[in-house]
Amino acid sequence: MLNLILFGPPGSGKGTQATKLAEQFGLVHISTGDLFRYEIGNDTPLGKEAKRYMDQGQLCPDTVTIGMLRAKVERHPEAGGFIFDGFPRTVAQAKALDRLLTGMNEQVDALLALEVPEDEITGRLLERGKTSGRSDDQDEAIIRNRFAVYQAETSPVYDYYDKSAKANRIDGVGSIPDILGRLVAEIEPLKQLS
Ligand code: ADP
Repeated sequence: MLNLILFGPPGSGKGTQATKLAEQFGLVHISTGDLFRYEIGNDTPLGKEAKRYMDQGQLCPDTVTIGMLRAKVERHPEAGGFIFDGFPRTVAQAKALDRLLTGMNEQVDALLALEVPEDEITGRLLERGKTSGRSDDQDEAIIRNRFAVYQAETSPVYDYYDKSAKANRIDGVGSIPDILGRLVAEIEPLKQLS
């Protein structure tokens, strides 16, 4: 199995690149943001709870997020590997993911962190908000809050994987194919080993 975490601030291009990487390497793409939006769209109890947090740019509680992620992984026993997008977003989530994969005799092979300056990202998110219908992309105060949460709670996840030399920084500025090329260059050698 090849198990990758695509990491980076809101609007850094994780979803776009994860979709392409999943196809290229035959991985199951799991986006916790998409899973929450699916629950919200179906007005489930989980969706109702998640919406309260997402609308404010806060993280959903770890127990809820981890349970949802685990259920999704377990629905894919045939997977040749996973690409996690928007997860883990806290060190507690990272530890839970490590435990889950260890229980499957697997591990995280690499965390790939897309680096994009905050100014560029705010513009991208507001632009996305015009067409995506995502209310959390239409309000600058919510966007600013998501950055603050990223700095405080999510960026330590990079250091957590850096301790085991699994964290890699990727320049996330440029065209979509250029950035994809940079990611593929990091992943190819891992693919040989996995
Ligand atoms: P983006 O990366 O552009 O902010 P996402 O679609 O990944 O967008 O996430 C949207 C929202 O969903 C987050 O702001 C948060 O409220 C919630 N969410 C997504 N993933 C997680 C997670 N792993 N833990 C907690 N909340 C999450």
